[in-house]
Amino acid sequence: MVQDLFKAPYPRIVAGPCSVESEEQMLSTARALAQDPRILALRGGVWKPRTQPGTFEGIGPAALPWLKKASQETGLPVITEVANVQHVEQALEAGIDMLWIGARTTVNPFYVEEIAEALRGTSIPVLVKNPIHPELKLWLGALERLEKKGISQLMAIHRGFYAYQSQPFRNEPKWEIFFALRTQRPDIPVLCDPSHIAGKSELIGEVAQSALDLGMEGLIIESHHAPGHALSDARQQVTPRELSHILDHLVYRKEAPENERFIQKLEDLRRQIDRVDEQLLDILRERLRLVEQIGPVKEANEATIFQMRRWFKVLENRKQYGTKKGLDPEIVHELFQLIHKYSIDTQLSRS
Ligand code: PEP
Ligand code: MN
Repeated sequence: MVQDLFKAPYPRIVAGPCSVESEEQMLSTARALAQDPRILALRGGVWKPRTQPGTFEGIGPAALPWLKKASQETGLPVITEVANVQHVEQALEAGIDMLWIGARTTVNPFYVEEIAEALRGTSIPVLVKNPIHPELKLWLGALERLEKKGISQLMAIHRGFYAYQSQPFRNEPKWEIFFALRTQRPDIPVLCDPSHIAGKSELIGEVAQSALDLGMEGLIIESHHAPGHALSDARQQVTPRELSHILDHLVYRKEAPENERFIQKLEDLRRQIDRVDEQLLDILRERLRLVEQIGPVKEANEATIFQMRRWFKVLENRKQYGTKKGLDPEIVHELFQLIHKYSIDTQLSRS
């Protein structure tokens, strides 16, 4: 009987190669990973969605028995990516324990619907990666499409978002999308995929730590017995030994440790923050009162509502003042962009 990833305590860790390349590669990686009891499931891509043609596109169905064998030998459940109905049928037929839907598939509701339909009547767990671009609704939509066909064991995988010339990571984490997912679906566990966010093995620990600090339930990390020879994503794969080393150095925080002094201190600071937030809102209301007065003055003098030179001066001045007060000028910039937009919208709606 293989372990159940959904019933395991946190953090839930899945590991395995980007692609299943040969029986030998899959088995030797799996055997090494199984030495670490923190690893609860094995991943391995059989059909690889590659951005560019001419690169390794996966072994295909011939690799499914190798994945299954890795599960039988180690007692760990195995998971692979499916991108169409045929993949689903072949993976189910081979007895693969769980499936994941990749970032390039989550973007397309037609694909997701077809996959969901092919899964109707099964009870296989499905993990859904975020779409390539940061559109929360597509991610939520994919999860809902699966739910509608009766798939109840669902998890989400946060693997970052494509950005032109993203640095230092391969994909931007955009943690705010995870917060939004968590707010809308607090019932769905989320694993972070630091391998595809980082794109480089040396940044995996840092990304994984951020994910755990933000309260994600686990990690899915690419591991290969010889990363230098990997046929896909070589730069971001780590050996099983390196993976254990990364896991050793992660700090596993609890969302709410049951320690009286900690709870007291937290509540005290939160009360103070609540008070400051109220003051912030009072001041914002005061600013709005002035904005409401300036609109008619501009109108009476036939001046435009948006005054570019004034806006640039405001922005520069607030950033300088903020810096003097020890605030990050980038944050001040963003904040005033929002405040200014609100001000212009208010004046437009009243003119
Ligand atoms: C993968 O997990 O190897 C993969 C192709 O991921 P993604 O869909 O996140 O690009
Ligand atoms: Mn990969």
